[in-house]
Amino acid sequence: MIDIETLDFKKVNGLIPAIIQDAKTFQVLMLGYMNKEALETTLENERVTFYSRSKERLWTKGETSGNYLDLVDIQQDCDDDTLLILANPQGPICHTGEQSCFYEKDFKPKQKLAFLNDLEELIISRKNEMPDNSYTTSLFEKGIDEIAQKVGEEAVETIIEAKNNQEEALKNETADLLYHLLVLLAEKNLSLSDITDLLKKRHE
Ligand code: AMP
Ligand code: ZN
Ligand code: ZN
Ligand code: ZN
Repeated sequence: MIDIETLDFKKVNGLIPAIIQDAKTFQVLMLGYMNKEALETTLENERVTFYSRSKERLWTKGETSGNYLDLVDIQQDCDDDTLLILANPQGPICHTGEQSCFYEKDFKPKQKLAFLNDLEELIISRKNEMPDNSYTTSLFEKGIDEIAQKVGEEAVETIIEAKNNQEEALKNETADLLYHLLVLLAEKNLSLSDITDLLKKRHE
C-alpha cells in the first residue's frame, strides 16, 4: 500500500492518473483520475473511487452498475505522479460491457491461461480444508503414491491420444494431466510459479 503524503499531487494539478489492473489476471482494466479525497475514499472503503472530470465529483466505479472494483493493492510509480491499482472487478468494467476498456480479442487466450492460477488456488484450498465429497480431497487423503500414479496414467493416456490423432480425447487427457500435476505440486508444497520461474530462468 502507499503513503498519500509522498504523492506529488501538485505536479499533476491535483489529479493523479490511476491505472487499474485485475489483481488475478493482471489485465489492464481502465484508467481514471484521483484527487486526494478520491484516494482517501478508496483506501477507506477498499473500493476504487475516482474523481470524474466529466461529472465533476467523486465517482465510485460501480455506483450505478454494481460493478465495483474491490481494492487489493496500490503502488506509486518512480516519480510519485502515477498510481497502479490492483483490484478485483465485480463485473465488466467498461461501460460497453467488455471486461476491460482495453478489450481486444487477442488478449483473451492469455487471460484464459490465468485460470490455471485459479485452479491452483482451489486445489490448495481443498488441501487445507479437506471438504467431503471432493475428488481432490480424496486424492490428498490417498497421498503421494496414488497422486503420482494418477499423473503417470494421465501422461500415458495423453501420449496414446496424441498418437491416435484424436483431438478431443487429446484435449481431455491433457486437461486430466495438468489437473493431476497441479495436485502433485500442491502435495509437495510447490506452486506453479516455482515451475514457471524455473522455465523463465532457463531462458535468460
Ligand atoms: P458505474 O460506475 O459502473 O456505475 O458507471 C456509471 C457511469 O460511469 C457510466 O454510465 C459511465 O458514464 C461511466 N463509466 C462507467 N465505467 C466507465 C469506464 N470504465 N470508463 C469511463 N467511464 C465509465
Ligand atoms: Zn511518473
Ligand atoms: Zn470503457
Ligand atoms: Zn485421463
